[in-house]
Amino acid sequence: MKIVLLGPPGAGKGTQAEAIIKRFGIVHISTGDIFRKNIKENTPLGLKVKEYTQKGLLVPDEVTVSMVAQRLEEDDCKAGYMLDGFPRTINQAVELDKILNKAGEKLDCALVITADYAKLTERIVGRRICKGCAATYHVTFNPPQKQDVCDKCGSELYQRDDDKEATVVKRLEEYDEKTAPLIDYYEKQGIVKKVDGQQSISAVEKDIADILSAL
Ligand code: ADP
Ligand code: AMP
Repeated sequence: MKIVLLGPPGAGKGTQAEAIIKRFGIVHISTGDIFRKNIKENTPLGLKVKEYTQKGLLVPDEVTVSMVAQRLEEDDCKAGYMLDGFPRTINQAVELDKILNKAGEKLDCALVITADYAKLTERIVGRRICKGCAATYHVTFNPPQKQDVCDKCGSELYQRDDDKEATVVKRLEEYDEKTAPLIDYYEKQGIVKKVDGQQSISAVEKDIADILSAL
């Protein structure tokens, strides 16, 4: 099963991917998580992308596409994957299609999680991430049992640099301009399914599980 998760920043993609991949035995590939890991470890890739992520801008396509192409060649992708945060431009989607075509494969579904912009800002500003395992929490909507400590691995939680309100505006603009057109792109392939992301986390998870089970 090969899924692309679409939706604006804060819609709940990462949260849902964590829950869904276990159920379907596929891997979760978040380009944002990969970039943050590289930035934290000061790798050459991290140094290259830091400036873009800090400003809420998209990383150039050539950097992102080659990173994803490499990741998709790893063995764990053979059982299927859920791409989260990729593709984010039409060009990235075209490149992904080329990679899939070459391997004689195709996407099963482009799953769009929808939410109003007022909700997104509230969710993004309150988001907290685990320094150890990158699990996602929210100070109000999905708090950890112990403040600032990850329930899963016990590491400390932090707020992403780009989750401050000033950067959020830019990220939403980038989404509207460059990523939202992907919904049409995948509509033309007949693989779009939409989920109302304003429901509770468990209700969204149930809707997604129902959609994927019926594929
Ligand atoms: P995305 O990966 O789409 O940017 P996340 O999954 O990181 O979004 O979710 C953004 C924030 O909103 C997180 O703090 C998360 O805990 C919270 N969140 C996710 N889904 C819901 C939901 N259905 N209701 C309330 N809060 C949610
Ligand atoms: P995310 O964790 O998905 O919110 O992504 C965080 C940041 O990483 C984005 O604001 C971009 O700067 C960068 N990024 C993640 N995925 C991509 C992508 N597919 N294309 C370009 N930039 C990306």
